[in-house]
Amino acid sequence: MTSAGSLGALLAAFIDLVLPPRCGGCRRIGAWLCAGCRGRIRPLQEPLCRRCGAEVESARPDCGCRRRLRSLARLRSAVAYDGPIEHAIQRFKYQGWRRLAAPLALLLVERLVVEGLAASWALAVPLHAERLRARGFNQSELLAAELRAHMSLDAPPGHLVRARATPPQVGHDRLWRQNNVRGAFEWQGPDLEGRSVLIVDDVATTGATLEACAAALRAGGSGAVIGAAVARVSI
Ligand SMILES: [Zn+2]
Ligand SMILES: [Zn+2]
Repeated sequence: MTSAGSLGALLAAFIDLVLPPRCGGCRRIGAWLCAGCRGRIRPLQEPLCRRCGAEVESARPDCGCRRRLRSLARLRSAVAYDGPIEHAIQRFKYQGWRRLAAPLALLLVERLVVEGLAASWALAVPLHAERLRARGFNQSELLAAELRAHMSLDAPPGHLVRARATPPQVGHDRLWRQNNVRGAFEWQGPDLEGRSVLIVDDVATTGATLEACAAALRAGGSGAVIGAAVARVSI
């Protein structure tokens, strides 16, 4: 039994394999992220909240996020969700341009290295089984695999699972997002023995999804959990 969604994903994966590199930002052939698009990537504007990495008016230890991001020790994003990065992430996620995982993850690796952030383990925000079937792959898992390879990290011994399907967060406010994903994740595996974990996603907005993952990992016995997203949406 094959759904139209997974057939589409298979076709996209095949096209991805046979075609030469094509820029995720502007579709120009030659590189997965061309020099022109790289030059147009919008960096996050300092000052940033030291805790959640959001663009803030003035530098403070936290922007008020401590009350809602209780399990997440830190949240960091590489760049703003804007311009060529927005196009590239859309193509990566919804059009099956899987090869964009490498250049997108590298942006994040650079950010984490510059900030001196690392952890014992790295894993991805999981997709619910139904969405995974429809899309054919978990974009965040591809990013996490790249991060593990570049930063010499392991995957933790077990699985973070999405215990229930949740409607997409897009278009909703902070409180709605927080309630939508609260308790949505569950750690299934041995005790994490106080070790630190990097939890990886493609895009972060309020950090609610990463926070819900962090809560599940902390309940599973982890130490500090750092959220890492390629791009940050400002709201
Ligand atoms: Zn380009
Ligand atoms: Zn903050």
